[in-house]
Amino acid sequence: MRSIREPLLIGLVWAVLALASVALRDRFGAVLLLWAPAALAVAAFHALPRQRWPMLAAVLLPAQALAIWSTGSPVVPAIAYSVASLLQAVVVASIRIAVLGGRFNVPRGTWHVAGLFAAALAGGLVGAIVAWPFRAEQSFADISWWFLTNVLGILTLTPVFLRLRPLLRFGVNGRLLGFDRSFLMPLLACAALAAIVLHVQHVALMPLLVAAMVLTTVRLGTMASALVILAYALVATILSLGGQSPMPALDLPPAQATLVLQFWLLTMLATALPVAAMILKREELQDTLIERNLRMHESLVHFDLAEETAGIGRWRLDLVTGKQDWSHRMLELNGLPRSLAPDPGDLTGLLRDGGEQLFGPIAANRDARETYSFNYPIKPPDGPERILRMSVLNEFDDAGHRVAVFGVAMDVTEQIRREEALELARGRAVRLAAEAQKLANTDALTNLSNRRCTFGRLGNMVDVAGKRGGTLTAIIFDIDHFKRVNDLYGHQTGDEVLVRVAELARRQARAGDLVGRIGGEEFVWLLPALPDESAARLAERLRESVETGTENAALPAVTISIGIAHFRRGDTPESLLARADAALYDAKEGGRNRVNQAA
Ligand code: GH3
Ligand code: MG
Ligand code: MG
Repeated sequence: MRSIREPLLIGLVWAVLALASVALRDRFGAVLLLWAPAALAVAAFHALPRQRWPMLAAVLLPAQALAIWSTGSPVVPAIAYSVASLLQAVVVASIRIAVLGGRFNVPRGTWHVAGLFAAALAGGLVGAIVAWPFRAEQSFADISWWFLTNVLGILTLTPVFLRLRPLLRFGVNGRLLGFDRSFLMPLLACAALAAIVLHVQHVALMPLLVAAMVLTTVRLGTMASALVILAYALVATILSLGGQSPMPALDLPPAQATLVLQFWLLTMLATALPVAAMILKREELQDTLIERNLRMHESLVHFDLAEETAGIGRWRLDLVTGKQDWSHRMLELNGLPRSLAPDPGDLTGLLRDGGEQLFGPIAANRDARETYSFNYPIKPPDGPERILRMSVLNEFDDAGHRVAVFGVAMDVTEQIRREEALELARGRAVRLAAEAQKLANTDALTNLSNRRCTFGRLGNMVDVAGKRGGTLTAIIFDIDHFKRVNDLYGHQTGDEVLVRVAELARRQARAGDLVGRIGGEEFVWLLPALPDESAARLAERLRESVETGTENAALPAVTISIGIAHFRRGDTPESLLARADAALYDAKEGGRNRVNQAA
C-alpha cells in the first residue's frame, strides 16, 4: 500500500503542474519557457529505487495521459506524449544515477556536472523523437521548443524537487528548500535584474545577467545557477503574460522569440558549468579537509584520554619560535594549573628551581638522536614532593639543527619508592644470607671454620694440589690432657682455653691458610703452597706459642701435640688427615707437647 502512495502523489502533482503550466500558456497567454512536470518525473525516477520504477511508470502513464487529454489533446497523442515523458524521465534518471554512481550521491567535480547536463540533453532528445510523429505541426521550430522546454525544466527544477523530497518527509525545519535562507536575497536580486534586462531589452545588458549568475554560483554553489535560470524563466514568463513576445526587441514572432530565449537560457546554464564544476571541486576539498580535521580532532581527544588514563603528560617546545604545547595532564604533573594549557609562557618563575632540573638535561642532550630520559623532582603546591620521569625526543631540521623537543612525563614517585624499598630489602637479605652462611661455616666458640667447612675447604685444596701438582700440608693439633683442665678449672675455663689456643693458631696462620676446629679440642691447620720442609718449623712455632702463650695468660697452662702430613699424589682428604692423625697419635705416645711428621 505504501509503495503506491508515493507514485500516486507524484502523478497528482505532475497533473497539477502540467495543468497549471498549460493554463498559464493558454488562459493567460504566457510563453512556456520550461516544462516543470518533466523535472518532477526525472526527480521521481531518480529518487525511487529501481524495483519501484514499474509501479511508478504504471501510475504515471495514465495520470500523465489523462492530464494531457484533459487539456484538449486527442487520445492517441496524449498517450504518446505520456510515453515520451516517461521514456525521457527514465533515460535522464538512469544516466544521472550512472554518472553519480548511486542515487544518493551528490555531484562532485567536472564529470558529474557535465554528465548531468548531458543526461538532460539525451533524455530531452529521446522524448522529442518519440513525440515528433504526434505533433500537430511537424516543424523544426516546434520540436525544438518541445526539446528546450523539457531540457530547461529538467536542468533547473530536478535538483529543486530532489531537495524537496526529504523536506516533504521530515518537515521544513526552518530551512528553505533544504538550503540556507541566504539564497533568497541574491535570487531576488537576480530576478529583479532579469526583470530589468527583459524589460529594457537591450542586448548590452545580457552579459550583466551572465555575470550575475556566475557570481551567484561562485557565492552560493552549484544549485544557484539552476535557480537563477529558473528565476529568469519565471520573470520572462510573467512578463510574457497576455501574449507579448518574451523578447520584443528581437522583432520576431513570439514562438521564435521564445526559442531564442530558451537557447539563451541553455547557453547561460552551460556557461555556468565550469564554474559549478570548480565550486564542487572546492567544496569537495573543503569537505575532505573538514573531515580530516574532524578525524584529527577525534584522535587528539583519544590521545588526551589515553594520556589521562595512563597518567602521562605530553609537552613540546619549538626551539625556533619558543612556542610550547603542554597537555593538561603535563601541567598538572608539574604542579602547574591546568588552565595554563597549551602555552604557559616563561616557566622560570613557575617551576621551583627555575626549571633547571627540567631544562638542564635537555640543554645537555642537544645532540642526542635517541630518546633520553631523566628524573626530576617537583613540589606540588598541595602535597609532598613527587618525582617525574621525563623521556625526551629531539627533533632536527634537514641541516641537523635541533628545532624542537617532544617529551612525555609520568609520575614515578611510587615506582621509585618501591624500587628503593626493594633495594633496601634486597641488601638486607643478602647480608642475612651472608651471615647465615658464615654461621653455618663457623665454629661458634672459637670463630674458626667448623668441621663441615674445614672438610669442604680441604676437599678443594686437595683438588687443586692434585691437578696442579702443588704442595699441601695438613697439621693436626690436639690439646694435651684437656680433660684435666675441665676437671680442675671447670668447663667454662676449658672453653676459654679453647678460644685462646684457637687465637694463637690463627695468629700463626698465613694468608691463604685455614685453621679449623674439627673436634672438641682438636684442630687442623691447612697450609697450601708451602715447601714441605718449612712445615715442621711453623708447627714448632705454634707448639711453642701455645706453651708460652697460655703460660703468660691468666689461664691454666696447656700444651699441644702436633701431627704433620704432606699431600701425596693420589691423596684424598681422608687419607691425608689420617696420616696427620697417626703422626699426632705418635706425638702423644712420644710424651706430648711435641711435633711429629708422618712418615
Ligand atoms: P690427651 O692428651 O690424650 O688428648 O688427653 P685429653 O684429656 O685432652 O683427651 P680426651 O679425648 O680424653 O678428652 C678430651 C676432653 O675435651 C673431653 C671433653 O670433656 C673435653 N671437651 C671436648 N669439647 C669441649 C668443649 O667444647 N669445651 C670444654 N670445656 N671441654 C671440651
Ligand atoms: Mg687432648
Ligand atoms: Mg682429643
